[in-house]
Amino acid sequence: MMASRPGSATRHDLAALDERDPLRLYRERFELPEGVIYLDGNSLGPLPKGVEARLREVVQTQWGHDLIMGWNLHDWVNMPRRVGAKIARLIGAQSDEVIAADSTSVNLFKLLVGALGLRPGRRVIVSDSDNFPTDLYMVQGVNELLGGYELRFVQRDRLPGAIDEQVAVVLLTHVDYRSGARYDMRTITSLAHRSGALTLWDLAHSAGALALELNACGADLAVGCGYKYLNGGPGAPAFLFVARRLQAHLRPVLSGWFGHAAPFDFSPDYTPATDIRRMLCGTPPILGLAALDAALDAFADVELKQIQDKSVMLTQRFIDLVEAHCRGFGLQLATPREPAERGSQVSFTHSEGYAVVQALIARGVIGDFRAPNIVRFGFAPLYLRHQDVGDAAMHLYDVLAARAWDTPQFKNRGVVT
Ligand SMILES: *Cc1c(COP(=O)(O)O)cnc(C)c1O
Repeated sequence: MMASRPGSATRHDLAALDERDPLRLYRERFELPEGVIYLDGNSLGPLPKGVEARLREVVQTQWGHDLIMGWNLHDWVNMPRRVGAKIARLIGAQSDEVIAADSTSVNLFKLLVGALGLRPGRRVIVSDSDNFPTDLYMVQGVNELLGGYELRFVQRDRLPGAIDEQVAVVLLTHVDYRSGARYDMRTITSLAHRSGALTLWDLAHSAGALALELNACGADLAVGCGYKYLNGGPGAPAFLFVARRLQAHLRPVLSGWFGHAAPFDFSPDYTPATDIRRMLCGTPPILGLAALDAALDAFADVELKQIQDKSVMLTQRFIDLVEAHCRGFGLQLATPREPAERGSQVSFTHSEGYAVVQALIARGVIGDFRAPNIVRFGFAPLYLRHQDVGDAAMHLYDVLAARAWDTPQFKNRGVVT
């Protein structure tokens, strides 16, 4: 089939899908700029409507008026757990198994060192060689600190074969940030457990967009981002998950006072809290937590299955439209075709991927580019409409058919891509 512009029949079908969408009213919970199709909620989620008012309240009243009393008056001290409990529901965990804290990178460090401590004598850390850089960097840093580990970074298809009785931890990102390929959490976790290894999952590109089932999969440990599909704002606090059965045993390497059993006893000796709180380090960032807390209200009443189903519909439709209409323009699907094998994202390779993304952004279709040649679109089920998918495909067709990307203006790279 030749390339052709998606037509009005498509728009009509998609409008009908939007009418029947059980999540159609959730879009109202977000501030989305006019004329923008936002396909980058996997990098930075948009602003949920309740956040601004909540921040104003926390700044003006709680901090501005109540000052230091806020810690008790507004229960700031328990915010990491309260926010963690909200996230727990979205990832298939118990409310006391998740806590909001620090950044994803720092949480990786804490859980990785903790996990190695639970498997003394085992000297191998397994990960995917295409894992997100910070995950691999943190493993390298931990190895420099502790010394003597074998870092077994292998490609996805080699992964099952890399897990043996020497392995202490298998650290994987559930959904690959470039390709959108998803690991089967249940299968990998049981494989790891059969060898006596622990699993540490990075949910940066999963939480808030898929029906995660950490408990049902037997997951041990996990980390994730607050600012991607959870929409907590730039640099939002991250979260971490520790299965209940491991909580009393995992040693906190960052043994700060907020992880102490009784921080306000001011004891000179460190005794970790017996629960998930031991994974806290220092004073929690209340403003960031307040924004994330309010952002998570956008997920109120949503069923994970609705999120998952819509994610599949949006991504499948985009793949189908682009493949049907944009043939011969040098795009190659980089995301698995099988819905169960991908996250809520669709990526293509294109030799001029950076310029293609810039040309799309100039038209209000915001996706992003990942070196060396990945054009990436994230589909957040809460606020995207089926029509947005059709319109994005149409703009992509226009950019490619007219070679709108082929101008110096779109080839100049910024620092953040
Ligand atoms: C975005 C992302 C991170 C980000 O980590 P920060 O510490 O928040 O910068 C980590 N891991 C993965 C897989 C990511 O996609």
